[in-house]
Amino acid sequence: MERLVGKARLRLVQGDITDQDVDAIVNAANPSLMGGGGVDGAIHRRGGPKILEECRKIRSEEWPDGLPTGKAVITSGGNLKARYVIHTVGPIWRGGKVGEPKLLAEAYRNSLELALRSGLKRVSFPSISTGAYGYPIEEAARIALRTVKEFLEERDLIEEVNFVLFTEADFKVYLQAMAEIFEHK
Ligand code: ADP
Repeated sequence: MERLVGKARLRLVQGDITDQDVDAIVNAANPSLMGGGGVDGAIHRRGGPKILEECRKIRSEEWPDGLPTGKAVITSGGNLKARYVIHTVGPIWRGGKVGEPKLLAEAYRNSLELALRSGLKRVSFPSISTGAYGYPIEEAARIALRTVKEFLEERDLIEEVNFVLFTEADFKVYLQAMAEIFEHK
């Protein structure tokens, strides 16, 4: 499924984000930036040790206490097809009343800002926070798609944003959210 937002393509695909041949893939990291399970583990496994080395440097030089929720940093893509990895930290779901929606939107927005500042045009996201961090995916999908759509409406240098959903069930949830946002607003 693909929609145009201004001149940019916003696309949903089912698959493994580590296969993406784009300027940058986004990692749903944790504050340590030292890898983990889920998509984070997959990216470090396929990307190789260079990514972790760069994450260590970012930790020691910029974020000694860890990357705060909602912020984003960039490393090279190591052995991945993607040239860069943007690491962001989504919120842990705690019931929705301690700012989770705002923090999730910030993770998407700050990732796109960083891509833009780095001159990157094609970016792929996973479904941030909806795995180990427990964010209900229907709600997360709406926030993800709305935030990216608004960003693309305001800025026209990013040409393509893909959401890469790992499972068919997740893909269907995003399809439904996309239909709601684009067809009924
Ligand atoms: P978080 O801690 O932010 O919840 P997870 O990695 O646990 O991050 O889960 C986020 C989403 O990433 C989940 O929907 C999960 O199914 C998905 N995921 C896991 N591996 C991959 C992959 N290789 N490519 C794309 N998405 C993936």
